Amino acid sequence: MKLHEYLSKRVFAQYGVPIPDGDVATTPEEARAIAERLGGAVVVKSQVLVGGRGKAGGIKLAQNSAEAEQLAAQILAMEIKGLPVRKVLIDQAADIRQEIYLGIVVDRVASRPVMMASSEGGVEIEEVARLNPQAIKKVHIDPFVGLRGYQTRWLAKGIGLDPALQREFDRVARGLYQAFMGSDASLAEINPLVVTGEGKLLAVDGKMVLDDNGLFRHPDLAEKRDVDEETETEREAREAGLSYVQLDGEIGCMVNGAGLAMATMDITKHFGGAPANFLDIGGGAKAERVATALRLILADPNVKAVLFNIFGGITRCDEVAKGIIAALEQIKPNVPMVVRLVGTNEEEGRQVLADSAYRMIAATSLAEAAQKAVAAARGELEA
Ligand code: GDP
Ligand code: MN
Repeated sequence: MKLHEYLSKRVFAQYGVPIPDGDVATTPEEARAIAERLGGAVVVKSQVLVGGRGKAGGIKLAQNSAEAEQLAAQILAMEIKGLPVRKVLIDQAADIRQEIYLGIVVDRVASRPVMMASSEGGVEIEEVARLNPQAIKKVHIDPFVGLRGYQTRWLAKGIGLDPALQREFDRVARGLYQAFMGSDASLAEINPLVVTGEGKLLAVDGKMVLDDNGLFRHPDLAEKRDVDEETETEREAREAGLSYVQLDGEIGCMVNGAGLAMATMDITKHFGGAPANFLDIGGGAKAERVATALRLILADPNVKAVLFNIFGGITRCDEVAKGIIAALEQIKPNVPMVVRLVGTNEEEGRQVLADSAYRMIAATSLAEAAQKAVAAARGELEA
């Protein structure tokens, strides 16, 4: 789950990272009131979950509260990279001398967090990595030891930071690391971290991505999920307890277990097809959840065939079969369905399908199921 800039910065501030004074507004009037309270020049910043808002015109400097109101009205009416702007952050304008990048992500290969710093702040870090990779300095952090002083000094030196700012940089870096660990984040980023005219560090922008599997430990943050972050289908799937990722192929896949779902996608590709989605209905899925899953798969207009690959362990094949029938009764789809049901109660499951009014293509092995799904999607095989 992605956190908006204003929320990310509030989390950073809780861990001692200095951020500008400011607040969010949903109307131009609110924006004006906030700007009045702050006094002086302010920045009006669109709160959308994409990068590069500045370039897209979603960040504007206002000299006074009247101008802030006017710019807020303008920005609140915008759409940035397809996302409507519903909130603006009004921050006290910073006097920027230098823009630095500071971020942490999980390095999956090294199995630990990696902190990155660059003197090329304010631009997208992916661009820096592509054009000028040596400008990014990295340190891996041992989670049992934490971020050490020598590491932050090495980063500060590596990016050519004024030595007078080293202690403060150390405090910001540690704060960011603690915010990252304390929130079960997979990414925490300050871009730019600025050096102000007064010679202080200030986190002007903030971004966090939280690990969905750790969200139950952070109910205060979980409730802040932005509805625009996910598609309608992804939201429904999450609420039903399904792991669903939409892809652009033509074979809808309904599988129990993430590993089996990956294998199913691979073998579908191997036989010349393309999966329309990743879907793990989870262990012990009941009929209702299966029906929801099938409804989501069939809502995708690209789907030309559906492949059910159920390996019954805790999940009972007859429950899955009932779910399939329940869903078919609601939707009455006109795409062919290939079904492979093996494991617990497979006989009962096959019987449920055989007794129904729906014709399906049966398969025993995974390879057979995948080949049949590919053929069915091409219109070369019927039930
Ligand atoms: P992003 O484009 O979505 O990454 O949004 P940022 O919050 O990083 O803002 C983009 C750029 O706007 C920054 O790199 C700064 O150059 C500029 N900017 C943001 N806040 C301020 C501010 O308070 N004062 C000034 N002068 N510039 C700002
Ligand atoms: Mn930025």
